[in-house]
Amino acid sequence: MEIVVCIKQVPDTTEVKIDPVTNTLIRQGVPSIVNPFDKNALEAALQLKDKYGANVTVISMGPPQAKTALKECLSMGADKAVLISDRAFGGADTLATSNALAASIRKIGNVDMVFCGKQAIDGDTAQVGPETAEHLGIAQATYVSRIDIKGDTATVDRECEDGYEVIEVKLPVLISVIKAAAFEPRFPTVKGKMKANRAEIAVWSAADVKADEKKIGLAGSPTRVSKIFSPPRRVQGIIINEPTAKENVTVLLDKLAEAKIV
Ligand SMILES: Cc1cc2nc3c(=O)[nH]c(=O)nc-3n(C[C@H](O)[C@H](O)[C@H](O)COP(=O)(O)OP(=O)(O)OC[C@H]3O[C@@H](n4cnc5c(N)ncnc54)[C@H](O)[C@@H]3O)c2cc1C
Repeated sequence: MEIVVCIKQVPDTTEVKIDPVTNTLIRQGVPSIVNPFDKNALEAALQLKDKYGANVTVISMGPPQAKTALKECLSMGADKAVLISDRAFGGADTLATSNALAASIRKIGNVDMVFCGKQAIDGDTAQVGPETAEHLGIAQATYVSRIDIKGDTATVDRECEDGYEVIEVKLPVLISVIKAAAFEPRFPTVKGKMKANRAEIAVWSAADVKADEKKIGLAGSPTRVSKIFSPPRRVQGIIINEPTAKENVTVLLDKLAEAKIV
C-alpha cells in the first residue's frame, strides 16, 4: 500500500505572544514544530504500515527549514520524505497550497491513501485536505478517529457534533484525522533518529511536480485578506448574587427587560 502524509511546519502557538502595541503575533524566536494533528495523521498511517505493510511518504510544502519537520517524521517511522519548495509556491492560499500538494501526490503515483491533520494550528482553515482530495478526484473522509481496512475498502469513524458516523469508503481516499486516543503519536526511536539524520530529503520544484503555474503561489490564490485585527475585549458579565433564588430570578428578569430581551 502506498500512503502519503501531508505535514505542515507551524509556529509553536503555545510560545507565541502578542505585541501589545501592534496587536500582532511576535514570531521572532518562536520554535517551529510539526502541526500536532499531522503527527496524529502520521501515527494513523504508521499503524496501517505495521498492520498491513505500506510505504509511507511524508510531504511538506514550505521553505527549506521545513526539512526539520520532515526529519522528525522520518525518525517516527516514515520511509521517505519530500519537501515541495520553490519561490513560485510563495503567497499561496489554501487553494494554491492544495493544488501544489495534489501535483506532488500525482508525481508520487499510485497512491492508495493520503493522510492530513484535521487542520493546521496556525492557518486553522481545515480546507487543504478536502481541496487536495477534490483536485485528485478521490474520495475523502474528514475528522476521522478510527480506521479499518479490508481489501479496497476503508471503514472509518467520523466525528460529528452529536456523536460519530461509521462510513465505508473505497480506496484511493484522503483521510483527515483528529486528535484521537487511537492515534496518539509514537515517540521517535534512537535508531529512527539516526536514520533520519542520514536521510536525504528530496526537494521538488514547481517544474518537478509539473504544477500549472496559474494554479500555484500568488497567481493561483483567489483569497484576499482585507483586514487583520484583534477582536474587541468582551466586557465583563454581571454576577447576580442576591440572598435567595427567587430574588436572583427577579433581578435577572428586570435586567433582561431593561435590555429589551424579554
Ligand atoms: C491570501 C493568502 C496568502 C497567503 N500567503 C502565504 C505566504 O506567502 N506564505 C505562507 O507561508 N503562507 C501563506 N498563506 C497561508 C497559507 O495559505 C496556509 O498556510 C496554507 O494554505 C494552509 O492552510 P491552513 O494553515 O489553514 O491549513 P489547514 O487547511 O487547516 O490544514 C489541514 C491539513 O492540510 C495539510 N497541510 C496544510 N498546509 C500544508 C503544507 N504547506 N504542506 C503540507 N501539508 C499541509 C496538513 O496535513 C494539515 O493538517 C496565505 C494565505 C492566504 C489566505
